[in-house]
Amino acid sequence: IDEQGGVSYKKVPTNALMSAIQLGIANSIGSLASKPTRDLLLQDFETIESVVFPAAGSATTPSHSFGDFRFRTYAPIAFRYFRDLFHIKPADFLRSICTEPLRELSNAGASGSIFYVSQDDQFIIKTVQHKEAEFLQKLLPGYYMHTHNRSEWAAQNDAFSQNLNQNPRTLLPKFFGLFCYQSLGKNIRLLVMNNLLPQAIQMHEKYDLKGSTYKRMASKQERAKSYPTLKDLDFLENHQDGITIDPSAHEALIGVLRRDCLVMQSFKIMDYSLLVGIHNLELAASNRRTRIESDPEEPAFDTQQPCSSRDAADQSSQPTTRSHKALREKFSVWESVDANDVASHGGVPARNSNGDRLILYLGIIDILQNYRLLKKMEHTWKSILHDGSTISVHNPEFYSKRFMDFMTEHVFKKGAALKQSPSRRRT
Ligand code: ATP
Ligand code: CA
Ligand code: CA
Repeated sequence: IDEQGGVSYKKVPTNALMSAIQLGIANSIGSLASKPTRDLLLQDFETIESVVFPAAGSATTPSHSFGDFRFRTYAPIAFRYFRDLFHIKPADFLRSICTEPLRELSNAGASGSIFYVSQDDQFIIKTVQHKEAEFLQKLLPGYYMHTHNRSEWAAQNDAFSQNLNQNPRTLLPKFFGLFCYQSLGKNIRLLVMNNLLPQAIQMHEKYDLKGSTYKRMASKQERAKSYPTLKDLDFLENHQDGITIDPSAHEALIGVLRRDCLVMQSFKIMDYSLLVGIHNLELAASNRRTRIESDPEEPAFDTQQPCSSRDAADQSSQPTTRSHKALREKFSVWESVDANDVASHGGVPARNSNGDRLILYLGIIDILQNYRLLKKMEHTWKSILHDGSTISVHNPEFYSKRFMDFMTEHVFKKGAALKQSPSRRRT
């Protein structure tokens, strides 16, 4: 942030950066249309396409006011193939990312990355470091072998076939594109991936969990935000008994997590997190009721609002107004779950220890830290080393085991999350 209050990243004003990115991506996706689809070749993972965007315009690029820049697309054919695999049509991708302004998220991590989210909530663009982009390039062939296999499997299975996004057999991030904006000797690398937390749905709590307890508590400053990202120690405090998920869904979820962890371990990836957004139906209903009393035309979904007080969550009346339609739909989503539905509709039904009905939004994030890179990053390294064990066990295997232990012992509990009604709401 500069003295005039303008936001910039690597000294590039972010609104100009955003517009330049949109130009670059539109050009990149547009030019792919003329290239026939075909099977992937190994070199498709290594190709880097580069286009110059002079401010005055050129034969293939429009004139613009963001200063001359160069835009690079990593592995264009490979990423096209994977967007296809994730059922993302070029026209939709373009519409989501390039036609409307992107929104900047304020929750940047400690690494200083910038996050943009597309207006339709589907995509996140994260600025990544050189090393991370390099690592992703190396990771691509193996990573997608894994993703591909799982989606093929899903495609054969009618219940899962409609949309991989909605029925993931993996919680690893979906990467839709890697680009680089270059101007005045600066490189800004941009990774497009799936947005796990739809902005249209209020997350009453949000956790970034690693399975470590060393310094894993949100700062005072973070907690003062209306939409804070909490951490492992906060979770342990707020959910001493964990979160309950129906047995079959629990089994499926843990299975998915285990396989994902194994894959990451095999790539020597560490320092990833499980992002957990919690939508609390009880809190949402009571917030809505409070607002409907004053304004019956209020939209049915909460947008990001500060958490309301817990004791307002008591349930007494049935939804009646038109505004409750979406809520009722959510209830039915929540009620009709089974094993195949883990993470379907983008959410996993669950309950907290109060018996409140929850919908969990889950995904693994920040997977581009490789063991060898981490050794050079002292802070992260120290935080990984802290748990009193010796250095030799602090490797990706240790990381993934600790991660899984935390998820199974403290976070996700197996139980009758759906059928059992919380007693305090029974009439
Ligand atoms: P650090 O390395 O310090 O952890 P980072 O810049 O690498 O930070 P991430 O860990 O990737 O950032 O993400 C930071 C926060 O951004 C997350 O805790 C989460 O709140 C949000 N976030 C990241 N990826 C996503 C996603 N795919 N969908 C929704 N929110 C996300
Ligand atoms: Ca992180
Ligand atoms: Ca990171």
